[in-house]
Formats: sequence, structure tokens, C-alpha cells
Amino acid sequence: MELTQKQREAGQRDEAVSALAVAAELESRYGRLEPEEIIQVALDRFGLDGLAAVSSFGADSAALLHIVATVDPSVPVLFLDTGHHFGETLQYRDALAADLGLSNLQIVQPDETRLAAEDPTGLLHKTSTDACCDVRKVEPMARGVAPFKAWLTGRKRHQASTRNAIPVFEAVGSRVRINPLASWTTSDQAAYMRAHALRENPLVAYGYLSIGCFPCTQPVAPGEDPRSGRWAGQAKTECGIHLSGLDASLTSSTL
Ligand code: SF4
Repeated sequence: MELTQKQREAGQRDEAVSALAVAAELESRYGRLEPEEIIQVALDRFGLDGLAAVSSFGADSAALLHIVATVDPSVPVLFLDTGHHFGETLQYRDALAADLGLSNLQIVQPDETRLAAEDPTGLLHKTSTDACCDVRKVEPMARGVAPFKAWLTGRKRHQASTRNAIPVFEAVGSRVRINPLASWTTSDQAAYMRAHALRENPLVAYGYLSIGCFPCTQPVAPGEDPRSGRWAGQAKTECGIHLSGLDASLTSSTL
């Protein structure tokens, strides 16, 4: 029997309420653990089929991925290939994955039909960065995480005003997003990279301290906010994969 639209929406509401309860329970019990312990808790709770890590293989990515690999290198790692990444980032992705023994790297690409219809020339970012991020990041992200119950990110509270209150465990639609490094400072990040001699994205040496797509990323001067090099000159500060756009995508199309 096929479900009606109303029944589907009611089911999605129930799942979202359940995800909120699960995230709140995990936050109260485990939100203060060390990152490695948090990832182990997540793996125990959601299983290898239910947990993924999402990484941009940017300036800070190696620390989270190293901890993930320490816990279990077969955790799926999703990389959103927007088609506009720096070549250095793509090479770094493959080199770092090999360094860490990540055995389940999954490349998620934009929907070809949508791309052909909405950004046939690849220049949509010049007229609407929101529309470009939607087709190249937000929809692929929603599709990428759809098979999983939870995913790990490397987001940290110090990175932006939009992140300064993020919990470790939070509900996004009917799923749980986990930020094991939420409390880390820039010093924590640098110390971890040094302690484990982790490979760095080569663009960092040129002042790219927050790295996304090449049309929307600039280097920053010493002492400047690292994220000021993203969508410089625009009000936009996030691509949408961490915001309510993803929430909407997860509840409208991919469940
Ligand atoms: Fe497009 Fe720029 Fe967003 Fe990349 S960051 S998807 S190029 S608007």
C-alpha cells in the first residue's frame, strides 16, 4: 500500500522527534568525552552501516580523519566533489586517505541532470552562490548522508559566529550530526597535527586557512579570520550543508 503525502510527512515528523531525543540523550551522556571516545560511542550506537564522516579535505580535516582512522579506518568518509575544487585539494584527498589507511572513501557528485539544467556553463557561482551551493553541495550532501543514521563533522565552535554554540550531538531532520571536535581551539588543532605529523593541505602554506571551491576561496593575511577568505565580499558565510537548507533537503526529497 502506497503512503499518502500526509502519512509520509507524519512519519518524517516522528523520525525528527526521535532524532532530537537520541541527540539529546547522547549529548547529556557523552558530550564531554574526548573525540576518540565520542567516535567510538557513535560507532557503537549507529554501527558501521549507519555512521559516516563528511570531510572537505581542507585545512583542518586531517585531525578528525586521523581520529576516525584510529577508531576504525573502514568508517565511510564522504567527500563532496563540487567540480570546483582546487586540484591541490583533490591530490591531498587521495594522499591523506592513503596515509591514514581510509578504506571507504566515497566521492559524492552533483546530480548530472540538475547540473546540466541549472549550471550548464559552470559559472552559476558568478550570479548566485546560493543556487550554485545548492546544486553542487547541499543536494549532494543530503543524498550522500541519506543512507546513514548519523555523520561526523570537523566543525568547531571557535570557527564562526554561526558555530559558537554547536553541541557535539545534534539532530538534523531524522538524523544525528556529530561534532567530536566542537570544543577544540586553533591551538588544539595545531598541536594534534604536530603530534601526529599529519599531512597538511598544501594550500595552507599559501595562506588558505579555510578551503572550499576555488572560485569562492581566497587566502587570508596572518591574524585574519580564516573564514574571511570564503565568499569574500558577500554576506554568505556558510555553503548550506550545515544549515537549515540541508534539513529541508533531508526531509523533502531523500528519505
Ligand atoms: Fe559554487 Fe562557490 Fe558554493 Fe562551490 S562554494 S558550490 S563554487 S558557490
